[in-house]
Amino acid sequence: MTYWIDTHCHLTDDRYRDNFDSYMQKAKENNVAIINVICSSKEELLYILEKQKQYPNLDISFGYYPQDAKSITQENLDFLIFALEEYPQIKAIGEIGLDYYYTKEFADKQKELFIKQIEIANKYNKPIIIHSRSAAKDTYDTLKAYAKTSVLMHCYSDSLEMMKEYQKLGYFISFTGVVTFKNANKVQTNAINVDLDKIMIETDSPYLTPVPFRGKDNQPAYVCYVGEYIAELREMEKEDLQQHLINNYQKFMGINND
Ligand SMILES: [Zn+2]
Repeated sequence: MTYWIDTHCHLTDDRYRDNFDSYMQKAKENNVAIINVICSSKEELLYILEKQKQYPNLDISFGYYPQDAKSITQENLDFLIFALEEYPQIKAIGEIGLDYYYTKEFADKQKELFIKQIEIANKYNKPIIIHSRSAAKDTYDTLKAYAKTSVLMHCYSDSLEMMKEYQKLGYFISFTGVVTFKNANKVQTNAINVDLDKIMIETDSPYLTPVPFRGKDNQPAYVCYVGEYIAELREMEKEDLQQHLINNYQKFMGINND
């Protein structure tokens, strides 16, 4: 039996909280069996840990977002370490990375936070989920120098050449609803050329809603539209793609099915 996995979403967002159950129900209807929720604060983490008691198909990732770098303190980092020891339910660290899109002003702070979190991941042997925007070279250099666990490039939208470099390092490459956008030639080319043993998909909900719901709020259930679009692009059976996506996610998370 194959199914979809949303490998990256922000289900802790306020807009889901009043109707949380209905979003889980909708995901189930669309055959989305696993949902990896990205938590970027203590509050989000504690919220989703509580939800996971009711929904064991929620996976949990936790890490501090690059654009929060200027306000993240040692206390926050200590909490990350505490949480990794206290809650084995945290499967990955992320999203972490570099984002120079709005300003490069805090680049040094971002890099410092990024490296600290990679080192924590190394120590606790956790895979890492990477956010990189307008910072391709620095992201690549930092990962190459420090990362020792599995790496997932979330919402990959840099060049095909860089994607190949990441693949050489064994990193996984994830695609969002952006791939379904009319003008997304670059991302579509990446989705056609990515290795089948490196590809992943996600919604990044509530952002980046795929066609046919573009313009509305996104939700984990819609990851099926990302997957179906890529299966069509690559002219392959949906179930075949799903099997690759499941294998890749399990490999990334360190789950051994032998
Ligand atoms: Zn995200």
